Amino acid sequence: MPQDLVLIGGGHTHAIVLKMFGIKPLPEVRLTLISDVLHAPYSGMLPGHVAGFYGYEECHIDLRSLAEFAGCQILIDRAIAIDLNKNLVICQTHPPVNFDLLSVDIGSTPATLSVPGAAKYAIAAKPVPQFLASWNQLISERQNHLQKPLRIAIVGGGAGGVELALNMQSRLGKEEVRGKKEEGRRKREENLEKLSSEIHLFHSGAELMPAHNHRVRRRLQEILISRGIQLHLKEKVCAVKKIERETNPQFPITNYQISCKSGLELECDRIFWVTQASAANWIRESGLAADSNGFMQVNDCLQSVSHPNVFGAGDIAAMVNYPRPKAGVFAVRQGQPLFENLQQFLLEKPLKPFAPQEQYLGLIGTGNKRAIASRGSFMWESALLWYWKDWIDRQFMQKFSNLPKTSNTK
Ligand SMILES: Cc1cc2nc3c(=O)[nH]c(=O)nc-3n(C[C@H](O)[C@H](O)[C@H](O)COP(=O)(O)OP(=O)(O)OC[C@H]3O[C@@H](n4cnc5c(N)ncnc54)[C@H](O)[C@@H]3O)c2cc1C
Repeated sequence: MPQDLVLIGGGHTHAIVLKMFGIKPLPEVRLTLISDVLHAPYSGMLPGHVAGFYGYEECHIDLRSLAEFAGCQILIDRAIAIDLNKNLVICQTHPPVNFDLLSVDIGSTPATLSVPGAAKYAIAAKPVPQFLASWNQLISERQNHLQKPLRIAIVGGGAGGVELALNMQSRLGKEEVRGKKEEGRRKREENLEKLSSEIHLFHSGAELMPAHNHRVRRRLQEILISRGIQLHLKEKVCAVKKIERETNPQFPITNYQISCKSGLELECDRIFWVTQASAANWIRESGLAADSNGFMQVNDCLQSVSHPNVFGAGDIAAMVNYPRPKAGVFAVRQGQPLFENLQQFLLEKPLKPFAPQEQYLGLIGTGNKRAIASRGSFMWESALLWYWKDWIDRQFMQKFSNLPKTSNTK
């Protein structure tokens, strides 16, 4: 009897799993990918895309051609529950999907629910398609109204928030310069003072990027300050609201307000939310063992600790013996072990445990085609690092482009 392997989410780990299934297919296994997007964003290049260094195609994996290469049926839909008694994935629009073996790689989203107004008014960095739609809309508004002051707030001072702040500022700066070129010289000089966008970064801790060493933290703080990004450290945002009044003499297009526990309030045009990762509720609600934050608990073979025929990887999975930060590098590294263990399970062979590395090399782009390397207590800053990061990221994306047509399609 053919077996049904169903993958939920086309995240970094599943992209690698699909590529490997294309290279080494298993007969008698039907593959199905349930993904709510056709193009999966690659996190390593996302800040560079925001800065305008990469086009959309360069930093998105085309899941349709990848699925075709793997001989996998693709359903564009959102999984909303798993019926673990009947082995069914419940989708938003398609009928339930039957599985013998299931793997979940749906990522995470910044936690917004605990702060009143955040889910409604702030723009979360994930899901990425919604975030990019808002960012692109802001850029096109900016292109048409360069003379208007713009104030952006970013909530969350981890690596994601810091990288976004620097890359957003770089892009906004480019738009302003472009705008100025199009104006006459006199007008340009007149408007020079006025053409400016402000970025405010809010972070609840005393120092940014707590997951990195103090030299990295100090250097990035210096860079942010030197670029005029306004830091609000030890500020816990406790509410976000929309301001009903349409105009205010100082900032005419201001329409949101951030309130902090300290009493600090700030009006701004957009609020981006990049706080700590949270898990989809339906994972725990479906009955899968989950940690206190709702992330699916998996063993060293990436197998659910409660349901042996369910595997999990990437941000959504918490390896019970190896807690690690939610970062794309870990999701990518889980690709091969997940692929091998799914195959071992289907072949009824023993699973192979996997130990993720303890430290990892973080390459943090600073929005000016330079990068900072961070690993353990080590820090290095250079333009060369940007070109190295760019090379690594392009090599990764290369794996998923120009895939040959195979005879795998069932
Ligand atoms: C602004 C920002 C910048 C970052 N930069 C970096 C970086 O430079 N380097 C780094 O290592 N990490 C970075 N990260 C972290 C990184 O994005 C995540 O760790 C990584 O994406 C996790 O990969 P994943 O495979 O778990 O899931 P993802 O890559 O998030 O993919 C999950 C996929 O599942 C789909 N999906 C979700 N729910 C469903 C559902 N219910 N049904 C069907 N499909 C679903 C999603 O659309 C998505 O395509 C950054 C994060 C942010 C917010």
